[in-house]
Amino acid sequence: MLCTHGYLDHSKAVKDFENMGIKVWKPFSESNLTDHMKFGRFLVQCFPLPHNSMPNFGFYINADGQKILYLTDYEYCRFNFKSLQVNHIICECNYQQELVSRDLANYEHKIRGHSSLDYCKRFISENKTSALRTVILCHMGAETTIAGECLAEVQKVAGNGVNVVVARKGLEIELIESGCPF
Ligand SMILES: [Zn+2]
Repeated sequence: MLCTHGYLDHSKAVKDFENMGIKVWKPFSESNLTDHMKFGRFLVQCFPLPHNSMPNFGFYINADGQKILYLTDYEYCRFNFKSLQVNHIICECNYQQELVSRDLANYEHKIRGHSSLDYCKRFISENKTSALRTVILCHMGAETTIAGECLAEVQKVAGNGVNVVVARKGLEIELIESGCPF
């Protein structure tokens, strides 16, 4: 299990998983940060992402040659992954600028700590290559996104050959295309 940061909407169940004997990596709680960890056949690297002033990490996962990026709760990402030819991107699409009111109690937190649809599109266009197969949009604000609009806009940026989906409970994604001789 990978845990990005310590806010409870992301970390509440960590202790339960640890008590069950499941290996949890939470780089934000390490005083001597290791930048990678092995989970069976999965090699995982972490990288910092700005989330207000809360230490927060994204992950680059290499699973049997399939390359996966996972980024959530970040204002922007200062790294570019294009040369890695990533296959799957799981990224936050938290709000659409026009749906966020300045009067919102958590306005600052929302803007400084989360990725907008516009930024999400920019991240994908700056990191996509012909190897990209899947984009999973996650951490979408219930009142600040219209899922269908986000999906359509991201699909335009990602291109027709890319499977763009909204994360939901129980979602399963085939990392390797069926018929692939692996
Ligand atoms: Zn969050």
